Amino acid sequence: MKADEIKLGELSEADQDALKHVRAQQDFMLERVTGWSAVNTGSWNAEGLNKFAPLLVKAFEETEAVVELIKTDPIEKVTDKGDLSGFQSGPVMRASARPGAPLQVVMTGHYDTVFPAGTFETIQDIGDGKLNGPGLADMKGGITVMLEALKAFEAGPMKHRLGYTVVLSPDEETGNFASNSLIMDAAKKAHIGLTFEPAMEDGSLAGARKGSAVYDIVFHGRSAHAGRNPEDGRSAIMAAADFAMRVEALNGQREGVTFNVGSIDAGGAVNIVPELGICRMGCRAPDGPSAEWADKQVRAAFDAACQRPDIHGHVHGGFYRPPKPRNAAQDELIAKVKATGKALGLTLNFNDTGGVCEGNNVFAAGTPNIDTLGVRGGRIHSSEEFMVVSSLSERAGLAALILNRIADGRIDAKKIKSMM
Ligand SMILES: [Zn+2]
Repeated sequence: MKADEIKLGELSEADQDALKHVRAQQDFMLERVTGWSAVNTGSWNAEGLNKFAPLLVKAFEETEAVVELIKTDPIEKVTDKGDLSGFQSGPVMRASARPGAPLQVVMTGHYDTVFPAGTFETIQDIGDGKLNGPGLADMKGGITVMLEALKAFEAGPMKHRLGYTVVLSPDEETGNFASNSLIMDAAKKAHIGLTFEPAMEDGSLAGARKGSAVYDIVFHGRSAHAGRNPEDGRSAIMAAADFAMRVEALNGQREGVTFNVGSIDAGGAVNIVPELGICRMGCRAPDGPSAEWADKQVRAAFDAACQRPDIHGHVHGGFYRPPKPRNAAQDELIAKVKATGKALGLTLNFNDTGGVCEGNNVFAAGTPNIDTLGVRGGRIHSSEEFMVVSSLSERAGLAALILNRIADGRIDAKKIKSMM
């Protein structure tokens, strides 16, 4: 029987070999991910990120890819003083193989976690087949799954048909501001994207995702003595508050679009008219047109607040993760991955979410993708984060089977991409 005669829900010989491969690696994968979890890689821990990146290089050299570390540009942040400062994050790890092959896949993930050094660094068995530890699910487990799937695929007979670029970022939890251009470059060249954020504990994956924007809005007024010459003062807090009221009033005006002013950094002593106010806010929107609408509204609210006498300011930010709605390409890819799950006896559900990840960015590059192919787990971004241990080989099997199906055409990557 030829590979292309075998349906998605059945196992070809190459599939069976790939599954044998990943299942034999279960203990090795567990050992690898617990070792990785023990190294703190909080997003602002440059030392930890730089210490960890070479471990990734060594691991990905187990594939046939050319592996490199690429220094990232500093991440710009608006300080509490209203000016910009840079943070030098860790490098991006990029691994590419067979760039001339007819089918190209981009695989992404991040090696940073939300946990600063010294906050959550223990790994413990919490029973029920679950392991608790920082980044086990989100997403050092996912990187482990990705790597073993690639190795299983490359041990098979169809690798010449499929090339890939892996991009592992040091800054996903803070928005991929340093790594986005490298993700976009790789994603544009690919037919399909596979990202290894954790699946839910019950195995379900993410469908549509909203887009996410962050803004730092700086207002400048004029300080004055609040007792002696208050008439010379121009309160930046009033401008920031005016802006905040206008933005919050936008909630409920358009379906699925939400605005949240998270903080106002402003002011000091009560006898000084405050000259600086910084509003930090977030916004989520379900599709491109509503994101555009939302951005326009935020800028209009800013302009209106700047109408106050002698107030001026700056808007920093915008939609750093554009929406990833369901479309024909996503629906088709999801259907194929569901059918692939059946070959493993897995019922894969896809649920829409307001959360965001690199899958948004890959979609924005014009590439359909599945973004929750990592381990099953839960309680992420808390000290109760856990990974379901057996899902390491389960999900590596799923990813390997997806690669096999893209390579042998049971998943028609070019057609799916053309549906975008
Ligand atoms: Zn993550």
